[in-house]
Amino acid sequence: MLAGMNILTHSPMTEHTFDGRHFYLKRDDLLHPQFSGNKARKLMTLLDAALPQITTLISYGSPQANSLYSFAALAQLRGWQLEYYVDHIPQWLAEHPQGNYQAALALGATIYPTGQHPTSAMHPYDYIQHVRRPDERCLVLPEGGRSDTAQPGIATLGDEIIAWCHKHRIERPVVALPAGTGTTALYLHQQLTAHQIEVLTCACVGGESYLKQQWDMLAATSYPTVLSLPQKHHFGKLYREDYMIWLNLCRETRVEFDLLYDPLMWRCLQSWLTKHPDTPLIYIHQGGLLGNVSMQARYQRKYADLPSGRHDG
Ligand SMILES: *Cc1c(COP(=O)(O)O)cnc(C)c1O
Repeated sequence: MLAGMNILTHSPMTEHTFDGRHFYLKRDDLLHPQFSGNKARKLMTLLDAALPQITTLISYGSPQANSLYSFAALAQLRGWQLEYYVDHIPQWLAEHPQGNYQAALALGATIYPTGQHPTSAMHPYDYIQHVRRPDERCLVLPEGGRSDTAQPGIATLGDEIIAWCHKHRIERPVVALPAGTGTTALYLHQQLTAHQIEVLTCACVGGESYLKQQWDMLAATSYPTVLSLPQKHHFGKLYREDYMIWLNLCRETRVEFDLLYDPLMWRCLQSWLTKHPDTPLIYIHQGGLLGNVSMQARYQRKYADLPSGRHDG
């Protein structure tokens, strides 16, 4: 018998200063050694659900995604096989497995490319539907775990924040977290809004209109507050300002932040915080650190003049 709700709740809250500003940090990166971050919150109901007929978990997406590793961890904890479909596996990754990809393989995942065959290349989603054809023993999850199964796990995160604020008499704080699909930010907003806690986020993937579309697909009736930079910002692209804020953040807090999503949120927060000097800030650490390995290698190659960060103390 698994006890997901027990192993996967009550992550610590720590206190830090960055750039002269005090903040609290909800350490969801520390939920569980393998099953952590917001993907663990999103998949939490599946750790407890009965599902006696299921033997195989099926999903798709990028071979470097944080969700790949979390799916693999979930499958291992439940004794399921994970089948994960990708368009293709980059040659450098196939030759030197690392990060989420390597860790998922180590947990027993099988990863199938579907987009490269000369005559029968297919999108992973179509391949699953038309060739793999899942039966009743299969549980199929959408890319990135974007679904309403995520709601209860994120509501639990919200409840932990509410209880912590009551206990420490923190009044009218804001909670900040960057958005990919926006699932975590939306469900957190829904849980916190009745408690006068505002959720701040930023659109890391596809901009603000994409984010609102995602929220509408989850039947949103109100939205978190979206912060943005004056200039356009592209997902996965290497920005000197992103790397610099990440290096400074890690150095000052002695906590390793995610390098794909967190830099944009902190850049957006900088101007917001100067306008709201007295509002307590709670930042959600959503995990994702395995993905940092390849991101940081790319950053170091591109900005070789900047310090190498977490490894030189
Ligand atoms: C997946 C992920 C996000 C985005 O989560 P959404 O619920 O899709 O908005 C943010 N940060 C990290 C570290 C992630 O792994």
